Amino acid sequence: MSLAIATSIGLIGVRGVPIEIEAAIGGGLPRTILVGLPDTALYEARDRCRAAVASSGLAWPAQLVTINLSPASLPKTGSHYDVGIVAAVLAASGVVPAELLPATVFLGELGLDGRLRPVRGLLPALLGARAAGLVRAIVPMPQVGEASLVEGMTVWGARSLADMVEILHGRPVPVSAVSAEDTAPAPENAAPGKDLADVSGQPDARWALEVAAAGRHHVFFHGAPGAGKTLLAERLPGILPELGLGEALEVTAIRSLAGLAVEGLSRRPPLSSPHHSASVASLVGGGPRMPMPGAISVAHRGVLFLDEAPEFSPRALEALRVPLESGEVTLSRAAGQVTYPARFQLVLAANPCPCGYATTPGSECRCTPLTIRRYAERLSGPILDRIDIQQQLRPLRRAYLTDERAEPSAAVAERVRLARERQGWRLAGTPWSTNGEVPGAHLRRDLAPREGTDVLDRAVSRGQLSARGVDKVLRVAWTLCDLAGRDQPSGSDVRTALLMRLGHELSSAV
Ligand SMILES: [Zn+2]
Repeated sequence: MSLAIATSIGLIGVRGVPIEIEAAIGGGLPRTILVGLPDTALYEARDRCRAAVASSGLAWPAQLVTINLSPASLPKTGSHYDVGIVAAVLAASGVVPAELLPATVFLGELGLDGRLRPVRGLLPALLGARAAGLVRAIVPMPQVGEASLVEGMTVWGARSLADMVEILHGRPVPVSAVSAEDTAPAPENAAPGKDLADVSGQPDARWALEVAAAGRHHVFFHGAPGAGKTLLAERLPGILPELGLGEALEVTAIRSLAGLAVEGLSRRPPLSSPHHSASVASLVGGGPRMPMPGAISVAHRGVLFLDEAPEFSPRALEALRVPLESGEVTLSRAAGQVTYPARFQLVLAANPCPCGYATTPGSECRCTPLTIRRYAERLSGPILDRIDIQQQLRPLRRAYLTDERAEPSAAVAERVRLARERQGWRLAGTPWSTNGEVPGAHLRRDLAPREGTDVLDRAVSRGQLSARGVDKVLRVAWTLCDLAGRDQPSGSDVRTALLMRLGHELSSAV
């Protein structure tokens, strides 16, 4: 009996775990058996692999072929084990040398014609492989760019099983034979997103966006359609600090798992804006076999924007509650549970009424006071409770449309960066790095402002503000003080923060 072992990677959430694929040939009548807790897609690998080998002009051993995936305790799912299975079988039957098998990771699905097809989650799989000490990888050619994001690994792209056989014979597919598109090193995608210079008017809302960015506060924009809620929300990632290398890899790994295009490594925090008709599964993650990350995980270390937020189903909104607290989401399946990171900054937008025009002068809104109230109430409770800043947007006045270009994102981003730096110094030695994350107890005990608390006391006694609301005001007051470069929030910072919490226009007095 002859034996060979190839290595692939199983994914538990974003964590890649090495899976040994052991092929034993001989010792029984010709047939192929696959053991080691495979799921249906993987069980079909047996037939895909045999067909791919045949159509590549090679022979599948006419003996008993036993393929064992270990550790057996780990449920294995997906079709990316195909190339590893074939590598082990071909090495065991002496068709290819086994020298390169140790320390090489095999990832790719096989077509019946022998082509290598791209797989979901390649980046996290390779990160797991590198962490496990594997130094070489054979991946589908179209994913060479994604694979090259993992430094310190030799990556070979293969278009087909025939390419893989060449590589295992020590004759790697020459790079010149590969189209530039396939191997172009993934550019570090630093393309500036949409710019705030394109948004005219709405000075208060622009300021609210800047404060939200500076302190990492969740923010709620409400106002008539066309006032610029979406334009502003889409520009939030452009004024947030860039991601570090590790963070950028983490964000890109989730994109890869979610089956989204991976075009290089982006240092820009991501923006995820699911439609209000999105299912709970597409929002928080799910799926029958290996649960896929949802929109909230794609927004990890970036922004989750819920436009027309009251139109989301109550179940979808409720499903955000735990991730908002914990920064992650756990999905349970029969085969076990998977946890994906989901530490996002929330931006909600809503119209004033179902038709949208209740606050527009001269409009023909026919919504009744009751429907308007019901509409607003859909957002109440756990979600609004997490919002630090509420900002109303008035319909744009015509004068603004011919306004000069507004301040560009780069200038705002610089102020945000300096404010974040101040928070970093003040919060050094704590588990938090931004004002938006600091818990109420710490705020009230160690960071109580010396001025302006009388305003808060009055708001509480008038029933305008809850105890939780006081914490939110204090968080925003600190961010205002950080943006102004002061050491302590002033009475004016506290008053402004209170107005931002209550959603009043900044010009109105408390
Ligand atoms: Zn209306």
